[in-house]
This record gives sequence, C-alpha cells and structure tokens, in this order.
Amino acid sequence: MRYLVAANWKMNKTVAETLEYLEIFLPKVEDINVVDIMIAPSFTALASASLKLEHSNVKLGAQNMYYMDKGAFTGEISPLMLTELEVDYVIIGHSERRHIFGEKDDLINKKMISAVEHGIRPILCVGETLEERELGKTLNVVERQIRTGLAGIEKDLIYIDIAYEPVWAIGTGVNATPQQAQEVHRFIRSLLNEISKGNDEKTRILYGGSVNDKNAKELIKEPNVDGFLVGTASLDPNKFFNIITEVLEV
Ligand code: PEP
Repeated sequence: MRYLVAANWKMNKTVAETLEYLEIFLPKVEDINVVDIMIAPSFTALASASLKLEHSNVKLGAQNMYYMDKGAFTGEISPLMLTELEVDYVIIGHSERRHIFGEKDDLINKKMISAVEHGIRPILCVGETLEERELGKTLNVVERQIRTGLAGIEKDLIYIDIAYEPVWAIGTGVNATPQQAQEVHRFIRSLLNEISKGNDEKTRILYGGSVNDKNAKELIKEPNVDGFLVGTASLDPNKFFNIITEVLEV
C-alpha cells in the first residue's frame, strides 16, 4: 500500500504565502514517488495552488465541501467547484468541523457520498474527545463515526481514506503514543474489512494529532498506520518534508 502524507493548513496562509511555500517545498519532494503527498490549502488559495501543482507529484486537497452541486447555500463550496480546480482529495468531518461548526454524522455521510460520486477522494476524519477516552468510549465513538460516515458507500472503500485523529491530540502538542494509535488503527482496519467485505486493501488509515518530525518515525512504524494527516507541523515546508522523509524510511 502507498502511504499518504497529507497537510491540512486549516485557516492559514494567503495566496502569496501558499505560493512562497510551494516554491520551497516542491523542489524538495520532486523525486519522491513512493508515497503520496497532499496539501490542503485555504479555499482562496486552491486555484493558484492547482496551477502550481499541475506538473508536480503533490496532490491538491480541499479542507471541506458541501454535498450539493449548486444552489442557495451561502458561503458553501460545491464539489463541482473543486473538480473544476482538479482537486484530488477532500477532508471530511475534521474534528474542528464537528466540534466548532456542529457538523453531525448524517451531514458528514452526505458529504462523503457526494465526494465519491464526484471522483474526489475523501479523507474521513474520526476520533474521540478526551472525555470520551476517559470514559472508555473511544472504540464506540470511532465505530459510530465510521459506520455512519460510510453508510451507502461501503462498496466504494477503495476510493476512500480514513484519518484517526483523537480530538485531544489535535493542535495540542500531545500526540497519541504509538500503542494508543495502533490499538485504534487495528480496530478500524478490522471494521473496514467487515464493512467492505474485504474490499478495503486500498483504504489507508492515517494518524493525525500533533504529528511532527520528532514523533513521526515511531508512529509510522506501527502496522496499520498508513500515513499522516498533519496540521501545525505542515505549515513549515522543512518540517513537513522531514515528516515525509521519516515515512519514506519505513
Ligand atoms: C489536523 O488538524 O488534522 C491536525 C492533525 O492538526 P495538528 O497536527 O496541529 O495536531
């Protein structure tokens, strides 16, 4: 399986800053062809980034999308707007969308279905809060998020990736230990296997939550950790490149 290392820039970097970053980053990774690399910049930078990435080995991602093609949905972005810009991936159900913007499992499911229908590879984000972990509910929460997120597209799992991102690890500097990540990733793999009737061998399970160039090496060694979704550390082209290097060495 080809690993995926994906950058989620969140609400960071203007168009100018995005292009400056890519000027530095693209030459560093131009010879890497054994792992997939994706960057999800802000919506306003997607068009410029798309042109810049056109002949590169770096894929373009969006951080969110709505599920309808068009209509009276002020402020939303449609899958057609993303495919026009040749966006390859879309992050769906990120914990900030769930917890700050109130996205629920059924909306996330509609977005997942729409992304698959439009040929944009969705990364479904799942993960428990600290409270849920402390109550021993981690696997229940992750199971619910995955079953509802994938409802109706179980046969399409080869076009989907999953990111396990414990909410308590996102942007906090406290990553899951390799053992904590492995426990959940193993569970997700067996769940995907059951849901897809064994047709999940191309579905990567990424880990996300305070990944950096210091902890990437230990995390990626774990079986069923098939790459990373990186927030803060991906904002620096050198740090993001170093994380990719650790993945290359596995
Ligand atoms: C994320 O937002 O997906 C993320 C993992 O952020 P960070 O790496 O900053 O924890």
